[in-house]
Amino acid sequence: MNEKIHKSGFAALIGRPNAGKSTLLNQILGTKLIAVTPRPQTTRNRIFGIYDREDTQIVFQDTPGLLEPKDALHQFMTREAERALKDADVAVWLIDSIKGVTARERGIATNVLSNLSIPLFAAFNKIDKINPDQIPALEKELEGFQFDPPPTKIFISALLGHGVGNLLRQVTECLQEGPKFYPPDQLSDRTQRFFVEEIVREKAFLQLRQELPYSLAVRVEEMKERENGLTAIRAVLFVERETQKRIVLGKKGAAIKHIGIEARKEIETMLDGKVFLELWVKVSERWRKKEDRLREFGYTETT
Ligand code: GDP
Ligand code: MG
Repeated sequence: MNEKIHKSGFAALIGRPNAGKSTLLNQILGTKLIAVTPRPQTTRNRIFGIYDREDTQIVFQDTPGLLEPKDALHQFMTREAERALKDADVAVWLIDSIKGVTARERGIATNVLSNLSIPLFAAFNKIDKINPDQIPALEKELEGFQFDPPPTKIFISALLGHGVGNLLRQVTECLQEGPKFYPPDQLSDRTQRFFVEEIVREKAFLQLRQELPYSLAVRVEEMKERENGLTAIRAVLFVERETQKRIVLGKKGAAIKHIGIEARKEIETMLDGKVFLELWVKVSERWRKKEDRLREFGYTETT
């Protein structure tokens, strides 16, 4: 008789900001767990997303996009991505097929991925946006890099789900026999509080666009379920300067009101219940430059 074995392992999602890492993870988990935005870098820490089947468990790590370090926050994010790779059994490198293999991909390939001792998948994403004729040219762009071992090329649309099943099958094949690391019904290692913060940050980015780049931190100060089933949440949006505070508030508070409405709708979907969301804007000077402040906002290295 054929005893069924159980396979498990960690898979790191690597790629430039906006390649579609969070979209892929949401597609794999079948839920909108992780903030996805047209603006890069909503994701500041690694997030574990857990794909679970009877005979498989893959713990995916959605890492912050790899950038050249410019300040404390960027350095922190690059370190996080490198750390994710160190812990991983498999690496999935997402390449935006619309942009192709650019200087940034070349940087990632030579600095981060060239000497991996684990299987590497080069997943060309967003194929729904390209002409199939372009595929051979895209594949060619990967030639000339010294990979050891060489990557397995795969074509997907994280958004539509095309090729994602195939990717999962191939990742599973690389994994070794092992136990479940997390309970089968657990989707993520993160708390609901964390996802509330992600959602508020995403809505703020969408509302404010160019006006507020990285200098925004969101912290949930209170989250309580009341007896009538309503969840009351109080969150603070921290900005660096008074001028930014005025931007976040908007004319007569219009911007923050809109952020609140949009965020509440999505939090209600996530929690599957009514939500009362209260948002505050506070100035906390130059938090981005200070590692201790990073830590205070929860960007710890011990999670
Ligand atoms: P991340 O920074 O790598 O996590 O990228 P996101 O997952 O946040 O995605 C960035 C943007 O690309 C979002 O607007 C997504 O909707 C979009 N996107 C991601 N995957 C696909 C895809 O397969 N096709 C298309 N057309 N858009 C995608
Ligand atoms: Mg992301």
